[in-house]
Amino acid sequence: MTTASTSASVSAHSETPTVPDDVPATMRASVLLEKGVVEMQERPVPRPEPGEVLVRVRAVGVCGSDVHYYKEGRIGDFVVEEPLILGHEVSGVVAGVGAGVPAERIGQRVAIEPQRPCRTCRQCTTGHLNLCPQMKFYATPPIDGAFADYVTAPAEFAFPIPDSMSDNAGALLEPFSVGMWATGKAGLAPGSTVLISGAGPIGALASLAARSYGATRIVVSDPIASRREKILEFGATETVDPLASDFDPARIGADAFIECSGATPALLAGLQALRPFGTAVMVGLGAEEMPIPVQHIMNNEITLTGIFRYVDTWPKVIAAAESPDVDLDALVTAEFPLEEAEAALTQEPGEDSMKTIVVVSR
Ligand SMILES: [Zn+2]
Ligand SMILES: [Zn+2]
Repeated sequence: MTTASTSASVSAHSETPTVPDDVPATMRASVLLEKGVVEMQERPVPRPEPGEVLVRVRAVGVCGSDVHYYKEGRIGDFVVEEPLILGHEVSGVVAGVGAGVPAERIGQRVAIEPQRPCRTCRQCTTGHLNLCPQMKFYATPPIDGAFADYVTAPAEFAFPIPDSMSDNAGALLEPFSVGMWATGKAGLAPGSTVLISGAGPIGALASLAARSYGATRIVVSDPIASRREKILEFGATETVDPLASDFDPARIGADAFIECSGATPALLAGLQALRPFGTAVMVGLGAEEMPIPVQHIMNNEITLTGIFRYVDTWPKVIAAAESPDVDLDALVTAEFPLEEAEAALTQEPGEDSMKTIVVVSR
């Protein structure tokens, strides 16, 4: 399986891949065969293509989308029609490089931005690569994800992480990127007031991102008291109970609203919480259609938008994670080894569970 050597004679930008001899020919992979059926398999270790790195996976975050593919076999138009390796929130160590990538990268700890855009379509060439129609994204059918010992990624999408960052935190840079992209799209500036609905992992990461954008009033709404309490450790400055009889969203006067719950009433309350000319960003996956207060949006020139993944957020989240206010490790409430990936997908989340990590290697 391995052909090139790692000796000093290998040039920095080799014409051939450099995969050291300690990389095996086969690996373990946790494969979703069909809805509700996961099997451990032995698969060939992928070869890095030109411009790619081969990464020994260490930690993979479990995302709601992974659970959804496991339980339903599909998310909207994306349908699991052949066996699929789940997992797209990944950290690891560079184990080999494709042609054109410096061999010096081998041994580097990295977090992976799990998308492979085509780079030539109109969206890609105008800075909107997240909307590339030819996008290949980990764990989105038919592209395999990272519940496996090794993955390949474009070299520039494998971002070096500092020694101070844990493997788990490196994996959580992916959902943190969702929060960062949403926060950027909400137009937050120093001194902003933002309302975030939903105190789950994405609500927490959006709160931390809002703080890094300089928002000074970060109001998080959630009906569960223990979640409201916990979110205060993740950037929120105050919380509200949307089911309380005295809850009046209009009193919040938010510059921006980030919807992270997927609940229709949360979206409607958030639109009322905005000051005129405010911006609402939809992040949570909920009903395919929701009734919108058109008159309210028009009369107040409210901007209502959504997000789909992210563009160029890893440098931002790596920098933000250096802040002493940001403790990504504190978000991890469960860990499972790779062999128990199915248990990670099927565990009943408690009220206080946030992120689950599949530990592939240490
Ligand atoms: Zn995710
Ligand atoms: Zn493209």
